[in-house]
Amino acid sequence: FLTGKTAVVTGSNSGIGLGIAIELAKAGADLVLNSFTDNDDDHALAEKLASDHGVEARYIQADMSKGDECRALIEKAGRCDILVNNAGIQHVAPIEDFPVEKWDAIIAINLSSAFHTTAIALPKMREAGWGRVINVASAHGLTASPFKSAYVAAKHGIIGLTKVTALETATDPITCNAICPGYVLTPIVEKQIPDQMKTHDMSREDVIAKVMLQRQPSGQFATVEQMGGTAVYLCSAAADQVTGTSISVDGGWTAL
Ligand code: NAD
Repeated sequence: FLTGKTAVVTGSNSGIGLGIAIELAKAGADLVLNSFTDNDDDHALAEKLASDHGVEARYIQADMSKGDECRALIEKAGRCDILVNNAGIQHVAPIEDFPVEKWDAIIAINLSSAFHTTAIALPKMREAGWGRVINVASAHGLTASPFKSAYVAAKHGIIGLTKVTALETATDPITCNAICPGYVLTPIVEKQIPDQMKTHDMSREDVIAKVMLQRQPSGQFATVEQMGGTAVYLCSAAADQVTGTSISVDGGWTAL
């Protein structure tokens, strides 16, 4: 049902962004994949998704830490019927030791990029007469954890931006919502495991079960396919009146 629509997914050469891109392609959407790198694998990935799903797919390099590149990505995409603001990074440290450049990078990539892409995408959606903005927030957009100051601040911020975008498009055939994943085993999470093993003096298995999934009552990681399925739902007619909200896909984390 998304044939003829173009989805731009930021940070989509791995993890949740790629999972969302694949599910949107299965529903017929043409794709613009993105990350800050520009190597053969990135372009080959777009070609593979195009041939796997019978859609058009391109890879466009843009660094989401830079406002002008965020804006240029949407310009270069041409159409942008579905905008998925997904690019994100993490850094874990107490506030007093938190590197200033990490704070700035997390706020830029996880929050400000969505402001820049949305600013260029909304006029295109209004012109096309339909649009969806989907912001990938986090359970950390709704609750906090120690040592994740920049990430929690950015994710709470993007939920605020989601609400404002929804209000500014409320009378247009455009919606804006956030997806709030709990723990999904992607590279961003994988990278945290060695540090957590050191901090807690635990094995990998114990860090996963007792530290990470301790917050996730289901005791299971959520999957990238589930994030993609949620994005497809938000693009469906069933979700025409769903706007300005956050959908948790977190195994019960935020119910605690
Ligand atoms: P990931 O590391 O696999 O993916 C992050 C993506 O962002 C990659 O494609 C990476 O190349 C891209 N990226 C990073 N910096 C970029 C930059 N400067 N410019 C452009 N692209 C950039 O991680 P993921 O788990 O798939 O994370 C995707 C989103 O989901 C993030 O916003 C993250 O905060 C959010 N999230 C993840 C989890 C989880 O448990 N994995 C939970 C909640 C929210």
